[in-house]
Amino acid sequence: MKNDPVFDLIAEEKVRQSEGLELIPSENYVSSAVLEAMGSILTNKYSEGYPSFKGLTFVDSKLEMPEVEIAKEILPNYRYYGGQRNVDRIERLAIARAMELFHADHANVQPHSGANANEAVYWAWCEPGDKILAMNLGHGGHLTHGSPVTRSANIYNFIAYGTTPDGDIDYDELERLALEEQPKIILVGYSAFMKIPDFDRVAEIGKKIGALLMADMAHVAGLIAGGVHPNPLEHGFHVMTTTTHKTLRGPRGGLILSMGNVGSPLKKTPEKKLENIPILIDKAVFPGTQGGPLEHVIAAKAVAFGEALQPEFKDYAAKIVENAKALADRLAENGFVLQGGGTENHLILVKCEEAFGVDGKFYERALDMVGLTLNANALPGDKGGAFRPGGVRLGTPAITTRGMGVKEMKQIADWMKEVMDICVKAKTEEGLDEYKAGLEQIRQEVKDLALQFPVPAIG
Ligand SMILES: *Cc1c(COP(=O)(O)O)cnc(C)c1O
Repeated sequence: MKNDPVFDLIAEEKVRQSEGLELIPSENYVSSAVLEAMGSILTNKYSEGYPSFKGLTFVDSKLEMPEVEIAKEILPNYRYYGGQRNVDRIERLAIARAMELFHADHANVQPHSGANANEAVYWAWCEPGDKILAMNLGHGGHLTHGSPVTRSANIYNFIAYGTTPDGDIDYDELERLALEEQPKIILVGYSAFMKIPDFDRVAEIGKKIGALLMADMAHVAGLIAGGVHPNPLEHGFHVMTTTTHKTLRGPRGGLILSMGNVGSPLKKTPEKKLENIPILIDKAVFPGTQGGPLEHVIAAKAVAFGEALQPEFKDYAAKIVENAKALADRLAENGFVLQGGGTENHLILVKCEEAFGVDGKFYERALDMVGLTLNANALPGDKGGAFRPGGVRLGTPAITTRGMGVKEMKQIADWMKEVMDICVKAKTEEGLDEYKAGLEQIRQEVKDLALQFPVPAIG
């Protein structure tokens, strides 16, 4: 069906991705190898259940079984359907590589998304009504950490800690709430937070009350894999959830790493003890919260994890952070006020309302017109609500994948200032009409730069 308009729209999207600059910190560009695995015939296969976990154990922080053996050996599995000999070995490779990347005792590569991964962990460990301590959404937490519009928030009782005025976790408040409320889970990990969490400190607090320590590293997993951000599993945490499509640069999906005993998914659900958490999680993913796994996506995850295990990925991760710092510094020089004063990771939160009297949504739309894509974001204590928040959030994973460096970061910060100056003069979105020529000029400059740095798998 070559004349299906869907393919024309995909072609248009390719142009948009090539000509604009992607500053949304949760987006990235996959390699052609990841894309090829994801678009493969593995989508035809049903594989409910799990492959064998035999040989997938760490000995002296190395996997017991080398990859060549994993790719060769066909083992009895825990699947509901036949015809699994290839799928099993692919999923085992994905699990092995994920364990190696994050030094975990076990990996579940089946969650369809980050949200599913989080929900499965809650389901694995909590009873309805149990308490979960997580960060206030307005201070950088994620919707799945207790937003009243989610299913989880209707099942469990979320309690929120916040940030301090300088943008760090309010550890004193976290400790006080943990001791008072005795939550079953303490959750660290955010969508708009620019500092490196003190995992040891939170682990100490968690140990006092026997809580499950859960890190949602959806945003920074690639930085952990690349060695430029601490790994919560090496600081006393029991579980780490993540997406695979943000800094990790894999296909859209979720992943759960855990520490503890690995066991047969066919046996009856074990007691809810911390050492059983890997088995409890496997049960909670399937059949607890999902059906058949997306084996084409799991194959693409395996490819992406393989890429992240290469030495070049360390350089990529370091470059993301270097670029974020350069972009933040130039924005500050240009008069922007930054939440937390700057960044220690790949993320920047700009307080545009405070410095320029321009709300985040208006600024987001104006930047969109010149080909700079980012998103409006609430700031702690924001009164504008989700539709008129006071800030914008941006980050460097995608533009770093394109090969950009400090020089380009400065250029981007300067365009952002030019667009801000236009917003200040225009006052409203309708007012931008008067400045069409100026915006068009910047759009052309953005496009010229973008085309010098081809998008992988598009060219
Ligand atoms: C992006 C994100 C998620 C959700 O991932 P989806 O794949 O969109 O469901 C969960 N937690 C955090 C902290 C995130 O940033």
